[in-house]
This record gives sequence, C-alpha cells and structure tokens, in this order.
Amino acid sequence: MEGASIVTANNVLVDSAQNIGRTPSTQLDVAVIGAGPYGLSAGVHLRAKGVALCVFGEPMEFWANKMPAGMLLRSPRVASSLSDPDKAFTLEAYEAAAKREPCAPVPLDTFVEYGRWFRHQLGSDLDQRTVLRVDRNGSGFRLTLQDGEEIRAKYVVVAAGIGPFRKKPAVFQNLSPQQAIHCYEGRDVRRFAGKRVAVIGGGQSALESAALIQEAGAQVEIIVRQDHLNWIGQHSWLHHMEPISSMLYSSHDVGPLGISRLVAYPNLVSLIPLKLRDRIRTRAVRPAGSRWLPARLTAVKITTSRSVSQATTSGDAVTLKLDDGSERQVDHVVLGTGYRVDISKYEFLPEELTREIKLLDGYPKLASGFRSSVPGLYFIGATAARSFGPLLYFVAGTEFASRELISGLSRGR
Ligand SMILES: Cc1cc2nc3c(=O)[nH]c(=O)nc-3n(C[C@H](O)[C@H](O)[C@H](O)COP(=O)(O)OP(=O)(O)OC[C@H]3O[C@@H](n4cnc5c(N)ncnc54)[C@H](O)[C@@H]3O)c2cc1C
Repeated sequence: MEGASIVTANNVLVDSAQNIGRTPSTQLDVAVIGAGPYGLSAGVHLRAKGVALCVFGEPMEFWANKMPAGMLLRSPRVASSLSDPDKAFTLEAYEAAAKREPCAPVPLDTFVEYGRWFRHQLGSDLDQRTVLRVDRNGSGFRLTLQDGEEIRAKYVVVAAGIGPFRKKPAVFQNLSPQQAIHCYEGRDVRRFAGKRVAVIGGGQSALESAALIQEAGAQVEIIVRQDHLNWIGQHSWLHHMEPISSMLYSSHDVGPLGISRLVAYPNLVSLIPLKLRDRIRTRAVRPAGSRWLPARLTAVKITTSRSVSQATTSGDAVTLKLDDGSERQVDHVVLGTGYRVDISKYEFLPEELTREIKLLDGYPKLASGFRSSVPGLYFIGATAARSFGPLLYFVAGTEFASRELISGLSRGR
C-alpha cells in the first residue's frame, strides 16, 4: 500500500479533540469505523504504511462507558496490549511513561487510559465523530458523519465492536430498562446499593458484575442454567511448567489446553470446516469466570441448573419465577446474557448494503485479509471470529488483524 495515498494528513484542517474540519471533499483511502482496540491498532499500522486514512469514533468508548467501573481485565497482561508495527506502544510502555505500577489483573481504568495514550500515534488521522451511514459510491464508499458531513473512502474497515449485539432474552422483555439492565449498561454499580439484584448468567461479565454489585452494598443472587460454574485457569500449574506450558498454551491464553495453541493461528483456523471451527470457537469462549473471582463471590448466593421462566412487575419490584416453580422478589435484574453477532444491527450499515454481504448467521463471511463479499468492505474484531476463530474476540487478536488487514487491503486493490 506504500505511497498509494490519495490525500495526506495535510488535507486535515483541524486536529482538535473533535477533529471537525476535514475538507468537505475529503477522499480517504481507508476509513476505519470504531476507535476501540481493533480500530486504533489497525489505524496505527495503516498510518505507518503511509495510507491516507481516518479512524472514526471516540477512543475506547466501549471500555470507558459500557464496562462496569472497577472491573479487572480477564485477559492476562501479555495479551492486553494493542498492536503497533514496532511493538513500541505496549501496555508496559504506557505504564512506564505514565509512571504507573504494573499490576495484574489489569484494572479497567488503566486499560482505558492506555488506549487513549496509544491513540495519540494516530495524530490527526483520528476523528471522534460517529459514522451514521455507509453507502456505496461508485467503486468506493460514502460515509455520512454525525453532523451530516460526507466523506469518501475507497475502503471501509468496520471495527465497531459488539455493543449493538447484546442479548436480552424474551422473558425479560416486559421489564423496564431500569429493572432489567444488560451488563453492558451496568457501568455505575453504586446505584444498586441496598437493592436486591438477580444476576443472570455464568460468564465473566455476569460473575464480575455480581461481585462488584455485591461489593457496592447490594444483596445479590446469581441464577445460571448450567449445573456448575466454570473458572478460567483451573490448571494454573500447567501454565508454569516451561517449556511444556508454551507447547500447550499460547501467550494469548484464549481457550483451553491445546485449543489455545490452535486459535493463535487464525489463518489456519479459517481453513477448518465451519462446523468444527464453530465447536472450537464455542469451546474457547464458553462461559467462565476468572480465577480471582470465587473469593469475591463468597457472600453471593449462586443458584445453578435454573432458568427464569417468567418475569413480572408489581410497582418497582420484579418477581422472577424459576423453572422449578420457586420465586424471587428483586429490585433489578442484571443480564449477563452475552452478545450475539448480527451485523444487520449496525445502524450505520443500510439494508441495501447489508443485503449484499454474504453472512454466516449474522457474521460476515470473510475471505483472507478480512475481505467481505462487498469489494472494499472489511470487518475486524468480533465480527471476524466466525471466519478466523475466537482470537478475534479479544485484544490479543489486534496484532494478527492489523497485519492481515494490510495484506487484505493490498489484495483488494
Ligand atoms: C465485560 C467485558 C469484559 C471484557 N474483557 C476483556 C478482556 O479482559 N480482554 C480482552 O481481550 N477482551 C475483553 N472483552 C472483549 C472486548 O470487547 C474486546 O476484546 C474488544 O473490545 C475488542 O475491541 P474492538 O475494537 O473490536 O471493539 P470495541 O472495544 O467495542 O470498540 C469498538 C468501538 O467502535 C465504536 N463505534 C461503534 N459504532 C461506531 C460508529 N458508527 N462510528 C464511530 N464509532 C463507532 C464504539 O463506540 C466502540 O468504542 C470483554 C468484553 C466485555 C463485554
């Protein structure tokens, strides 16, 4: 892609926090939608290649606004760095620059600040505005931004994360947004102080939210369908037996023994027949909590092998009827019920465009280099996990995604 730019950073008139002020006729080579770990990393790699690009969105918005305050990262430190070509802007580099003591697990606030520090490498190639709409425009695309400005781009990379994909099971649909809150909306756990809260689900989001809500002074019960909770890293001794450990687990630490090594090679995973690939993906990200959580959940009631069959309200209270006929009276239900990728839920993709994208049950079907069936349209991050495996759900996948995207864009040309 080197030297192929149509415009350079000189076309950008203002480099303010909002970055309003590109020329109305701005034509980019690449527009990246989303400034989370994937969008920022891809942007930095593209910029290093001299590509005329812009990353759109508020840096680390999902992590800063949608994850519960006080959260700790589930991924180990070695798998929690964003990617830049020289590996110079790692989490460790940030901690050294900010004079922060390295700690494990990594606190959410540290990670958000790290991402915001990392983003400075993009300089004026970051525009905090939201992309409202993407349309085809000849052989390229036209992006409409939140203030109505239109930008043209030859290529669009969707790195918009999982926010719109949160699942709210039908049984909770009749509860008000204050009564049934997805973990995604549960940033401020202090609001639950003194309340009775049922947390639904047995994954990291549910279990950590339960711990944080209980620590904020609520009475918490976890209700989970499975007959037991799973904990990540149960065989932690296997992680400390070098050189055998590195044969069993990759440093990304996604998935159990053996699978962890396989998923570290997403191009290899993409060659596995879909059915088996799906099984590997589901196994690698089965609901489980970090091993530092059980100690924080001792004061939380955990009900296993039960699901909620009915949820009704009387005044401000909620009555949950479980499938064994028992009932619970609570003030709030917190849904740790996960996410289901469905790109038609990205509001910026109009139906005309989505119709052209070949799908695998809501995920875009991607060829090598993250190419979708629409020429010039690419997807990275969680939406690429069905094609390239579970590494793409995690920050650890930013290195592969950024490098592979560059070769995909070169092929797309
Ligand atoms: C509770 C929870 C805990 C997690 N913990 C970990 C962990 O410890 N380690 C780990 O590796 N992963 C973790 N994950 C997974 C995590 O979501 C991904 O690793 C990571 O966010 C992927 O980065 P991303 O850039 O694809 O998505 P995001 O971080 O979601 O970034 C996408 C960005 O796109 C922006 N955006 C969306 N639409 C537009 C638009 N139209 N215009 C402009 N911008 C837009 C959003 O605002 C968002 O900031 C966790 C997820 C959850 C829900």
